[in-house]
Amino acid sequence: MKIGVVGCGQVGSASAYACVMRGIGTEIVLVDAKHDLAVAQAEDISHATPFGAPIPVTAASYEDLSGAGLIMVASGVSQKPGETRLDLLKRNADVFAEVIPKIRRAAPEAIILNATNPVDIMTHLAFHFGECEQAKIIGSGTILDTARFRTLLASHVGVSPHSVHAHVLGEHGDSEVLHWSGSFIGNIPAKNFAAQMSAPITDQIKEEIDLSVRGAAQRIIKGKGATWYGIGAGMARIAQAIINNESTVLTCCTPVAEVEGITDITLSLPQIVSAKGIKKTLYPELNSSEKEYLKKSAEIVRTAIFDTLGK
Ligand code: NAD
Repeated sequence: MKIGVVGCGQVGSASAYACVMRGIGTEIVLVDAKHDLAVAQAEDISHATPFGAPIPVTAASYEDLSGAGLIMVASGVSQKPGETRLDLLKRNADVFAEVIPKIRRAAPEAIILNATNPVDIMTHLAFHFGECEQAKIIGSGTILDTARFRTLLASHVGVSPHSVHAHVLGEHGDSEVLHWSGSFIGNIPAKNFAAQMSAPITDQIKEEIDLSVRGAAQRIIKGKGATWYGIGAGMARIAQAIINNESTVLTCCTPVAEVEGITDITLSLPQIVSAKGIKKTLYPELNSSEKEYLKKSAEIVRTAIFDTLGK
């Protein structure tokens, strides 16, 4: 499948690079408002192909997205000093009002996979501007937060993160919900597994992991200005599930009718991802406090959507 990437700064280029290193896609085309940047990224990433998969990577225009089955979007503007989150959101909404219809015209059937932040709201806007089926609009959502949760839990009990099944739900942001009550390691409830490993999940450990997942982006931004490897790998993982028609369960976001009583909302829940995009959205069993936190998270995202779209 041909993959397009629109916005090839840190996140877009890391996503394309991760696809090359994992052999995902048959051709990758990079589009950016700064064409010279797209040219440089394409040349740099193509030099990794002898060590990864021999996938052609080229800089392109919107017209060249024609024939792509998947378009990754990571185009956005960054916060100016003194700018509020809402002002930033409005400027990014302007970017999407331009970019999404151009993508749709060039590749009307393509699945759009968005990473631009705030990802839940921007994915909702992409649906609004894209006028296409809901299943074909996917946001990376909490795929990265889930990866952070799995990594920290795995390290606490001393196993591979591949054996940890633990999801982060809700907003990709401060109000996200770590789904502790539904966390498993192997096929054993995480709490039980951890006790057997003499690494109990106490309230203090839970709080430490929770804070570490929630604070990861700020910590990394403080050290290097932005985050890109984790999300790049996450974008490639979603792309792989689409291209291989895997029906894999991943925590990404897509518009849904209702979550905990909040309607017309986009946030992360476990989603079955296949060649059709989102095949099904699943509602996991939550305990009462997780339900309450998920509702609060949905309210926060809904308010931001209303402030941006006016509906
Ligand atoms: P960046 O500034 O390096 O890249 C953004 C790119 O978008 C730039 O190259 C810019 O030229 C391009 N762009 C801007 N307007 C455009 C337009 N109209 N058409 C085409 N290209 C346009 O930023 P980045 O670090 O790559 O981050 C990109 C986005 O990803 C940000 O919104 C960031 O917050 C987000 N992000 C998301 C996650 C996640 O988990 N979802 C993680 C990290 C970053």
